[in-house]
Amino acid sequence: MQKYRDLLINNVRKQLNIWFDNDNVEETSHEEVYRFLHSITGTAETIGLNEIGQTSRELIHSLSENDDRIWRQKDLKEYLMPLLSVCYYNESEESLALTKKVSYKGNKPLVLFIHNDPAFLMHVKDELEKEEILVTALTDSNRAVSLLYELKPDCIIVGVSINSTSDLDVLHYLKDKMKQQFIPTIMISDNNQKEVRMKSYQMGADDFIEKPFDMDEFIVRVKRQLERKELIDHLVLVDELTLVYNRKYLGQVFELFQSEIVRNSENFSLAILDLDYFKHINDTYGHLVGDKILREFAGFLKQELSSIDILIRFGGEEFVVLMPRTNSINAEAKLKVILDRFAKKQFVENDQQFHITVSGGLVEVTSNAKRMEEWLELADSALYEAKNSGRNCIKVVTSNEGTAPKKIVKVGVVDDDPIIRTMIIEMIENMKKEESIQIDAQAFRDGAKFFESDWYKSEDPYILLLDGMMPRMDGLEVLQRIRAERDINQYNIVMLTSRKSEQDISRGLQLGADDYITKPFNLSELEARLKRLIQRMK
Ligand code: GH3
Ligand code: MG
Ligand code: MG
Repeated sequence: MQKYRDLLINNVRKQLNIWFDNDNVEETSHEEVYRFLHSITGTAETIGLNEIGQTSRELIHSLSENDDRIWRQKDLKEYLMPLLSVCYYNESEESLALTKKVSYKGNKPLVLFIHNDPAFLMHVKDELEKEEILVTALTDSNRAVSLLYELKPDCIIVGVSINSTSDLDVLHYLKDKMKQQFIPTIMISDNNQKEVRMKSYQMGADDFIEKPFDMDEFIVRVKRQLERKELIDHLVLVDELTLVYNRKYLGQVFELFQSEIVRNSENFSLAILDLDYFKHINDTYGHLVGDKILREFAGFLKQELSSIDILIRFGGEEFVVLMPRTNSINAEAKLKVILDRFAKKQFVENDQQFHITVSGGLVEVTSNAKRMEEWLELADSALYEAKNSGRNCIKVVTSNEGTAPKKIVKVGVVDDDPIIRTMIIEMIENMKKEESIQIDAQAFRDGAKFFESDWYKSEDPYILLLDGMMPRMDGLEVLQRIRAERDINQYNIVMLTSRKSEQDISRGLQLGADDYITKPFNLSELEARLKRLIQRMK
């Protein structure tokens, strides 16, 4: 039976190749589309491909048999998308199980895994990914160093053979890096001598695991490090004095709110609040009183603002408030009420009574065409105006929407399978709507087609998804040639290889691939990885 299933899926594939390939006819007659779906509907369920059968039945249901419509390639792709997805996922039982897993929520932890044994890398990667942990696996430790900046992993696992000097260099480097930014590091070694363990800890290892190890225990230990990382990230984001978020958090949350503008057309308001004559308070009552007032102001704001508003201590006696789904008119009104109330609060120090007023600058963030810094500057200019017009007030500035050119990232898919090509490109098209970055995605049928086009020659950053096995020029050759001809840092290359071809993976990693994904893969998994890479390229 499997033979017939493979045959059917292959036929679908062949047909799509004819329809979707760039050099072929741009248009397809309605009759052809109808006949195609009709034959699949008939066969699929007979041979146990129920999902495919059902999907094509639903598709054909919305068509009438006699229609003289001409299908444009783009429309046809869109229309057949549901069928493509089920065909893809039906290729193996394994992939079916994958699709049923919870899909990506945007926050899976990422582990950077460096080890010189590809088979071991693959095995561990598999196991960790079952646990919803993304893994970027690398055999080249030098490459790992440059990727550290791009990927911002949540944990690093390094296989150490203490004899290799390049391993040691990497460790030295990582240790240095680690001082600036906490990333837990686990070292794995098949040498459990005290000397090796000591050296690892001296190098900055947070855990040392001896090979061979029990996988369950290994996973628990990795997860424990990921939890520590999460906790520390949180602690690092909170201001000690006032217990509200600090400036580091602003970037993250701003980006999130800005993506909502594109996704749901929801603007948000940003205000900078600055205490009036605060220097005078310090000078008169001392810094400790100043500190106490800062704490009280932060506490007061937190209590008065809505739970969805974000309060950040921006520095000194300045706070930033982000109000999601709030236009500037409502934001201004709301802040006015809060600050008036604060101004009425009576402070008493050394038998002296006093009041504290606050000035604010406010802007409604209406697009992602401007970077955060530019919006902050706008709010700051309004604050300046508020200070100049006597303080104790809020000024609103409106932005004159400039259309700053967006940065481009090029994503190339080189794969001879039209289902995969179409699905990935479609996925990227949908991603585009959310990203503030411009993505130029292109698919190629094989390596030769890829090099024939000039597309890969620009100065923009690239992400290439390369199929290992292709006719004419396969992925490994493409990889080799790109690495030889182009700047290594400009191209981030991910191999798409079948689970069985360990040798290809191993070769790929040796030839300088940055990562690999085994087929059949889960689309949401791929999306998560791409997003992560693209984020880093901003
Ligand atoms: P303006 O109304 O123009 O804002 O006047 P100002 O005095 O509030 O503004 P300025 O920026 O000149 O001074 C801010 C002061 O805030 C200076 C600094 O010593 C004080 N400050 C900054 N951070 C802290 C802190 O954490 N604790 C205390 N006690 N004071 C702080
Ligand atoms: Mg100030
Ligand atoms: Mg001030």
